[in-house]
Amino acid sequence: MTASDPNRVLIVGAGIAGLAAALRLHRAGRRPVVVERSPARRGGGYAVAFAGVGYDAAERMGVLPALAERHITPDEMVYLKPSGAVSFTVPGETVRSMVGERSLSLLRGDIEDVLYQAVRDHAEFRFGTVVEEIAQDEREVRARLSDGTTVTAELLVGADGLHSATRTQVFGPEADFRRDLDHMAGVFMLDRLPEGVPAGATVSLTDAGRTLAIIDLGQGRAAAFFGYRTTDPQGELAAGAAAALPRAFADVGWVAPEVLARLAAADSVYFDTISQMVVPRWSRGRVVLLGDAAWCVTLFAGYGSSLAVGGADLLGTALEEHPGDIPAALAAWEERLRPETERKQRLGRRVKGLYAPVSPVARWVRDLPLRMASYPWAGRLLQRRLQLKG
Ligand SMILES: Cc1cc2nc3c(=O)[nH]c(=O)nc-3n(C[C@H](O)[C@H](O)[C@H](O)COP(=O)(O)OP(=O)(O)OC[C@H]3O[C@@H](n4cnc5c(N)ncnc54)[C@H](O)[C@@H]3O)c2cc1C
Repeated sequence: MTASDPNRVLIVGAGIAGLAAALRLHRAGRRPVVVERSPARRGGGYAVAFAGVGYDAAERMGVLPALAERHITPDEMVYLKPSGAVSFTVPGETVRSMVGERSLSLLRGDIEDVLYQAVRDHAEFRFGTVVEEIAQDEREVRARLSDGTTVTAELLVGADGLHSATRTQVFGPEADFRRDLDHMAGVFMLDRLPEGVPAGATVSLTDAGRTLAIIDLGQGRAAAFFGYRTTDPQGELAAGAAAALPRAFADVGWVAPEVLARLAAADSVYFDTISQMVVPRWSRGRVVLLGDAAWCVTLFAGYGSSLAVGGADLLGTALEEHPGDIPAALAAWEERLRPETERKQRLGRRVKGLYAPVSPVARWVRDLPLRMASYPWAGRLLQRRLQLKG
């Protein structure tokens, strides 16, 4: 495919950002071609809180009812001492009232699935394909793909995640933009709950800069989450989950040995540094970055999927408001979106110290609000306050 098509947009990456962009840009009258490195769509992932600009955008894009069907109703949260004994429990009722009105708890794979089902008949998908070379001028952008074809488009959206190849090809090396927050995250799905973990609960244990959580996602699904501090995130990433996780959690008891023994057989393992992307300008000519490729606010901010969908929706709006003027549309889009992403990045940096505290005192301080919520009187007060706010 080399012929020019003024309405074609090329989207690199079929994660939440790429799929949301495909759906929204199709609605804006474009013909999306989506290239995805993986040979097939991914499932699973991890649970994300989906709210704010993403929730509002999903409503406008008509996918909210399908997302709401996948909502994971949160239940009690159990916090363990390093010994594995229960420290305190926040009851399910209190947890549910803390989630808020316009907010969903969703598996990343389920968000992707809902977006994919909505757009699959309106976009061309090429799995197992990457972009090898990008060239552009004032009229168009041309991408040579690994399947031997060249796609010519009016816009190329780089939605290929934290380690975006689009960003490297067009903006510069990853190291120029990456801000490591000195933590790693590893998540994989479990085929059954480990022995002793109550159904419906999220149970977590924090000890000396490491957190292990087992999350029951309902419908027979569960996930193991490992988060830990490190002074060498890139070294850990290079070592890979199979070597790094057993090393980092070697002396953690509870269900850690049992869950780590299942790592080798797990089919979708997420393992990465917790890093933000600080890219001074998200577009160069007809190439724009979207989602984690552009900003990656991190799981500390808990807002990346919301910003990916909200950002895709705003991109569609900007293109509609600036017909025939890609640079003006991209400039207007960035001006509207950047303040919120920078706020969330600041939040991510602020909470990083609370995530897996090293000292018992720091852990006690971090747990204090949750510990308070575990008392029935405080829980009721919190619920009333949240209901009044909602
Ligand atoms: C443990 C964890 C918890 C989180 N919790 C929350 C939360 O509570 N709330 C929230 O809103 N967000 C949360 N997030 C963040 C959220 O998941 C991400 O911000 C969001 O999924 C980013 O989507 P993306 O599409 O930008 O990137 P990605 O999900 O990384 O998708 C990129 C896609 O591009 C593909 N790709 C990569 N390279 C190439 C290439 N060269 N060519 C073609 N395709 C390529 C990949 O295979 C992938 O499909 C969390 C993240 C983690 C890790």
